[in-house]
Amino acid sequence: VYTIEQVKALVREFADFPSKGILFRDIFPIFREPAAVECLVSHFVERIQATGKQVDVVVGLDARGFLLGPLIALRLGVAFAPVRKGGKLPGSVARVTYQKEYGEDVFEMQADAVTKGQQVVIVDDLLATGGSCGAAEELVHKLEGVVVLDAFIIRLAGLEGDKRLRAPVYALMEC
Ligand code: 5GP
Repeated sequence: VYTIEQVKALVREFADFPSKGILFRDIFPIFREPAAVECLVSHFVERIQATGKQVDVVVGLDARGFLLGPLIALRLGVAFAPVRKGGKLPGSVARVTYQKEYGEDVFEMQADAVTKGQQVVIVDDLLATGGSCGAAEELVHKLEGVVVLDAFIIRLAGLEGDKRLRAPVYALMEC
């Protein structure tokens, strides 16, 4: 059995990855320990339930949001939907272009993944500038959904990414 503090301790740092000057936080060691995953998922489910909001869809961001998102959705008994980089999803999609550190990027969601009035929790591993999650919020709004919470394992405190986000932010740990 893991405590949430023990789960946090599994996150590792890699200097100069994926390029020089970047300190990368690696969450994969958590997924090597089923008991740690169990603790992490239960923690997120409790935090989501503590908002008192009804949740209809958990939205996970490409790509590490796909690890945690479906587990949380399963536990809540609600839908999971992915936000993917442009050109990966079949059928009708909603599309937004957003600013990255170097140039622009495109995020898409299937047009029928969220329906009007549905309440959404967005999940990703890490909040940095908030560019990715802000774009995901915009996609949900395009589909006339309502984002009730943005949930992360890690928030990089110095970057104040949550200031770019419209919904309340929860992060398990600050770095
Ligand atoms: P943002 O759009 O908030 O600037 O960056 C967040 C996105 O970049 C997330 O999708 C996240 O997965 C990825 N990311 C940026 N830095 C790191 C890092 O140090 N560790 C991990 N795991 N993901 C990162």
